[in-house]
Amino acid sequence: MVKTNTKQQTPDECSHECTGCPSATSCTEAKVGSNLPPKVDIDVKHVILVLSGKGGVGKSTVSVNLAFALANHGYQVGLMDLDMHGPNIPKMLGIEDQKFAMIGNKIEPVHVTGTLSVVSIAFVLPDTSTPLIWRGPMKMAAIQQFLEDVNWGSLDYIVVDLPPGTGDEALTIAQLAPNVRGAVVVTTPQDVATLDARKAVKFVEKLGLPVLGIIENMSGMLCPHCGKEIDLFGKGGGKKIAVDLNVPFLGAIPIDIEMRIAGDEGRPFIIRRQEVNTSWESVNKVMEALIKEVEG
Ligand code: ADP
Repeated sequence: MVKTNTKQQTPDECSHECTGCPSATSCTEAKVGSNLPPKVDIDVKHVILVLSGKGGVGKSTVSVNLAFALANHGYQVGLMDLDMHGPNIPKMLGIEDQKFAMIGNKIEPVHVTGTLSVVSIAFVLPDTSTPLIWRGPMKMAAIQQFLEDVNWGSLDYIVVDLPPGTGDEALTIAQLAPNVRGAVVVTTPQDVATLDARKAVKFVEKLGLPVLGIIENMSGMLCPHCGKEIDLFGKGGGKKIAVDLNVPFLGAIPIDIEMRIAGDEGRPFIIRRQEVNTSWESVNKVMEALIKEVEG
């Protein structure tokens, strides 16, 4: 029979098998936490994590638009792309041809505007089709470098775009980054996405971080031909988990072909003010709700 850690020992004191032990998850988390180095000392007031349970739900889209929305508010912003195996932030900002420069012994982030700088593993890969084949410890080392070896200067915010799920990258940044203000969870409305978003919310709570809110992306779509609304992925799923889990709901963003085009063409949707429409208003409303939540 599997013995369990019933004596409330610390993970390092416990000699029992993890398999079958009801404390296994929390013990493993504690072990991971205790093996990590201490927080990196950089000059940033707030770090915001953007995560999702499932991939393809619009996490990078939200990260890019949030970074621009914060910069539009006059903040000095860093955007950190930690989706190491699918680093799309450079493409979404039209800077996929850029490479890191070294100034002295520091990495210079790529400056998109005077108030927005970006780091991404894509800036060290030879081309956009080269996959990154790294195990966890290498990614953890890269995340540490993205924090302490980058010439960030003095920042108000770092927005962190994480890979989908609740793995190494999220754990590492939560542990290493100073002043983590909380995490925003992006989901689409359908069950297969909200199921994973629930896990993401619980993960954030287990890390002891505030859930800044849930964003329901791809929530309905206006037919470009007849103008009628089509519930492609359903509607209301994100709001429901926010209510169920008692966390803020930041709003819904519809599917809009212009958002997909904006991503592909490297032009953040939120800065296209000349083409204000219902979707732009939704994105703006969600970003303003999130900034309000963050500013407290
Ligand atoms: P993730 O980071 O979760 O994998 P992305 O932000 O890369 O998701 O989005 C996946 C794709 O969907 C991208 O091509 C993006 O431009 C597009 N997209 C995201 N949100 C919307 C939306 N509301 N309407 C239309 N396309 C969207």
